[in-house]
Amino acid sequence: METIFRDYSNVSDAVKENYLLARTNQTVDFVDNMIKKYSTFDMKIKIWDILQHLNSLVDVSDPDMSHPNLYHAFQTAEMIKKDGHPEWLQLVGLIHDMGKIMYLKGSNEIGTGKNKQWAMVGDTFIVGCKLPDTLIFKEYNKENLDKDNSKYNTYLGIYKEGCGLYNVKCSWGHDEYLYRILTNSENSNTLPEEALYIIRYHSLYAYHDKGSYKQFMSEKDKELFKYLKLFNQYDLYSKSDILIDEKKVKSYYNNLLNKFFKNDYLYI
Ligand code: FE
Ligand code: FE
Repeated sequence: METIFRDYSNVSDAVKENYLLARTNQTVDFVDNMIKKYSTFDMKIKIWDILQHLNSLVDVSDPDMSHPNLYHAFQTAEMIKKDGHPEWLQLVGLIHDMGKIMYLKGSNEIGTGKNKQWAMVGDTFIVGCKLPDTLIFKEYNKENLDKDNSKYNTYLGIYKEGCGLYNVKCSWGHDEYLYRILTNSENSNTLPEEALYIIRYHSLYAYHDKGSYKQFMSEKDKELFKYLKLFNQYDLYSKSDILIDEKKVKSYYNNLLNKFFKNDYLYI
């Protein structure tokens, strides 16, 4: 039997609430504040401890996920490896959701806690321009607190045609947080730009899955887009019930981490 992923027609109230709160509260100002709040990088933590910590977090936005996050990390990486993709992509499989470690420095009030996760998980969207109908639960678009701001509610909003995704602001979540961690000078690594691109935009489904936001694409985006598509197959289809023997795979990925990261810890 074929499994259907991302079926939102019959989801729990928790999933719906997560999307309603995100759609309502993720505004240009909110995102600016979150960038400021989460750019202190003042907590030193081992990479394996981050991955381990994610085990106590179940993503409330995900209709396909009932396992803790570490299983999803291993499953994604292992499937990428099985298909013969390069080491950097395998490593992205392992670490792509590490931004959810935000909950350690989070609180439910601003959607970054264990129970309220609306500024941490779920599909992202671009703030500062009109919300497209391709977002899931598009009926929530009208709740967005920026919707009546004439600076923001147009096709281009505050941006220029072809400005590049690097110059737009996405709703705050684990993608953007991990991107900022990995590009901080304290956290030296040799991940290629393709890897950082996947990490930063893997939750932007309206873009990579539904074809929205083309107006902002630069030549660079056109070049990197295919990696988002490639990665997404693994991010989705690894959410199966096959569990991974952690001990067996850990030493392999420890080697990979050593290859790409200067230290075995990150400042978050
Ligand atoms: Fe993710
Ligand atoms: Fe994921």
